[in-house]
Amino acid sequence: EKINAASKEENQVLFSFEYFPPRTHVGADRLLQQLDRMSAHSPAYWDITWRDSAAKLSLEMANVMQNIFSIDTMMHLTCTKMSIETIDHALQIIKSQGIQNVLALRGDPPLGQDKFVKAEGGFESALDLVKHVRNKHGDYFGVTVAGYPEAHPDVPRNDDGLPSSEGYQNDLVYLKRKVDAGAELIITQLFFDTNIFLKFVNDCRQIGINCPIVPGIFPISDMRGFLKMTSLCKTKIPSEITAALESIKDNEEAVRAYGIHLGTEICKKILGHGIKTLHFYTINKEKPTLSILMNLGLISERKVSRPLSTRQEDIKRMS
Ligand code: FAD
Repeated sequence: EKINAASKEENQVLFSFEYFPPRTHVGADRLLQQLDRMSAHSPAYWDITWRDSAAKLSLEMANVMQNIFSIDTMMHLTCTKMSIETIDHALQIIKSQGIQNVLALRGDPPLGQDKFVKAEGGFESALDLVKHVRNKHGDYFGVTVAGYPEAHPDVPRNDDGLPSSEGYQNDLVYLKRKVDAGAELIITQLFFDTNIFLKFVNDCRQIGINCPIVPGIFPISDMRGFLKMTSLCKTKIPSEITAALESIKDNEEAVRAYGIHLGTEICKKILGHGIKTLHFYTINKEKPTLSILMNLGLISERKVSRPLSTRQEDIKRMS
């Protein structure tokens, strides 16, 4: 089914999990086992990221996520190195798998390049992709787009590291164009300053963006990943977080525990502002996300679903 990110009941909090296609067979096996355990916690939906070099795997994973685990699945789709034909092919495949949700993205520049270049016979932006999905498939797909509480990293920054106000405004206007073209849901880039996220939601509402805006939560699980992501996304890191991490940065376990504590506090603040949806960048790790959900009282003890062995037979039959 299409994702409905609005909670059905007044106090119900919806949460969702994001995964990336693993690089090895061992990784794929591990991810299947993890999905099996995570599915028992009934996420509202889950999604699989896209990179052109792993397209086949994203399509296969999306099929398993939707049809073996029976959880509404959203596949990311980008314009990087993708012609319109390859985009259409991917959309056709997921349609035939009964998947009804797409996260339409421009995508990052191809590996080793620092500027996005439109593929030959392809699209220049997420806006083009949203329009294309709507033109070609009507309202079959629920279309989601990315939103940037601190503006897209290409937007010029001031000395304080924050985006210029003109750049921020242009980014918002452009986001509205993606919504006006047919996107029904926004998932945000990661952030660590919750006030920036709350201001972003407010600013979106001010300019007439009315669809649900789902905060992207990134549980810190190790220093390397944290530094890589925040420098890539040009994320502002509040000074108290820098200070807390500075004192424990060589202790992996302490960093993980702090990541869970911080993630819990960020989610609490968001939920306290009446926002009832949380999207977790799991980076294919299980414990940080589950610990945060447990701290929030949104899940209880580890549940066990149908034994994976029976699913593995289904998976074999499918491929
Ligand atoms: P766009 O919406 O096209 O915008 C990119 C930038 O260009 C913005 O600053 C926008 O303001 C500007 N811009 C573009 N066109 C115009 C225009 N006509 N007028 C004015 N400004 C314009 N990357 C992957 O490779 N695979 C993934 O699976 C993936 N998943 C992601 C999931 C989420 C939730 C998020 C937030 C990001 C994800 N990314 C992924 C990263 C994303 O691809 C990059 O951030 C990329 O650089 C921009 O993609 P976009 O869809 O936001 O682009």
